[in-house]
Amino acid sequence: MDGSVEESGFEVLVVGAGAAGQMAAIAAAEQGRRVGLLEQMDRPGLKILASGGGRCNLTNLVTTEEFIAAFGRSGRFTGPALAQMGPAMLRTFMDRLGVATITPDGCHVYPAGERATEVQNALRRRLDELGVELHTRTEVIRLRVESGRLRGVETKIGHGFAAERVVLSCGGRSWPRLGGTGGGYALAEQAGHKLVEPLPALVPLVTRETWPSRLAGVSLSNARVRIDHAGQSRVGLVGDVLFTHRGLSGPVALDLSGTVAGLLRRYGTVSLRIALIAGMNASRWAERLDEWRKETGRRGIASMLREYLPASMGSLLVELAGVKERTPVAQLTAGQRDTLADLLGGIELTVTDTEGFETAFVTRGGVVLGEVRPDTLESRRLPGLYLAGELLDLDGPCGGYNLQWAFASGYLAGRSAGQ
Ligand SMILES: Cc1cc2nc3c(=O)[nH]c(=O)nc-3n(C[C@H](O)[C@H](O)[C@H](O)COP(=O)(O)OP(=O)(O)OC[C@H]3O[C@@H](n4cnc5c(N)ncnc54)[C@H](O)[C@@H]3O)c2cc1C
Repeated sequence: MDGSVEESGFEVLVVGAGAAGQMAAIAAAEQGRRVGLLEQMDRPGLKILASGGGRCNLTNLVTTEEFIAAFGRSGRFTGPALAQMGPAMLRTFMDRLGVATITPDGCHVYPAGERATEVQNALRRRLDELGVELHTRTEVIRLRVESGRLRGVETKIGHGFAAERVVLSCGGRSWPRLGGTGGGYALAEQAGHKLVEPLPALVPLVTRETWPSRLAGVSLSNARVRIDHAGQSRVGLVGDVLFTHRGLSGPVALDLSGTVAGLLRRYGTVSLRIALIAGMNASRWAERLDEWRKETGRRGIASMLREYLPASMGSLLVELAGVKERTPVAQLTAGQRDTLADLLGGIELTVTDTEGFETAFVTRGGVVLGEVRPDTLESRRLPGLYLAGELLDLDGPCGGYNLQWAFASGYLAGRSAGQ
């Protein structure tokens, strides 16, 4: 249906048909409410369709405590939503809609056919079964509030939809071409909500150094990356790192990127230190190089490093250390050994930017959590208004956390609005 309705009345209106909005509409309609679902794009669920590279990593099997911890200091806010639609319940819910799920690695959950369309088609079927009225190409630009009471919404082309309960599930600013236009922020502000500045997160990093471009496409599977900045945890994250034409990506860099984006905003640049093999610091590398000097001293240094690192990475390191690739290990000077050990144990990169909202998987920041009731997701500013999904100031790491939060919060907001 297009947005050509002059004035429709609903018991619950949901603005934004992503994971959170579709789930909210289903939850409200399952309570017998007449529900309208308004979406600015020409189809619902565009991000679901793109998620997990088209495979849709819809949740994971970490414990509730681990899940909450993954969302950082505000993670507790997710508790009541998870209690109603946690990972196990989401899988049961999907199963009931005809979507069996699998965990190929024992943690990350995908639809059995590993196609995001399975999830989106099932949600769409359920919306239709429940009689939810979906209006696509319908961009909401204003809440209708009369004498402090919520009365409905108005769209860009001047149509009105009446309802006394409205769920805002407009997502954030990431991937504008999939609907991440940030339009929900103005609606929340109109209701009196404050925002934590939206920043790109789960986004590749741009570095001042150009050497990563020579390794574009090369990945390290057990690197430790830490932000080298006062006040940041010294521990860092361990896992996969991918070099790109502009800098750094891969799960570890993506998971740090929201924090890096915040520091960039304040300081302009951010230093990272990468231990190319986690657990091997500069002094352990220096010892290892000494062992090599004794045991296999005639072998070239680059060829030795190839046993630990991708060949191109090894070649680049010896070049950065000012050593010739074929230099026999035994002929390394003490200075060359130390320089190499320093690079291997903690090569430095200076981040100057992120690749921005165009390619950020999620948005950090959004509607301030203190102004929303965690147990119902109702606004503390405007009764009858509910908020769900990425629009709120919460974001998780890679691996099914963000869709799980969108589904869980959508369910809670829809149920609360439908009561
Ligand atoms: C490419 C990509 C891959 C991803 N892969 C994964 C993954 O595998 N696992 C995971 O957990 N997370 C993944 N994420 C993150 C996850 O998809 C999002 O966090 C989640 O979809 C957010 O859901 P949402 O419903 O809150 O927002 P969205 O999905 O962004 O939905 C918001 C909807 O509201 C609509 N809208 C906005 N403003 C208005 C308005 N004013 N009027 C009407 N409609 C409006 C938008 O068009 C959009 O359809 C991925 C993200 C991207 C971009």
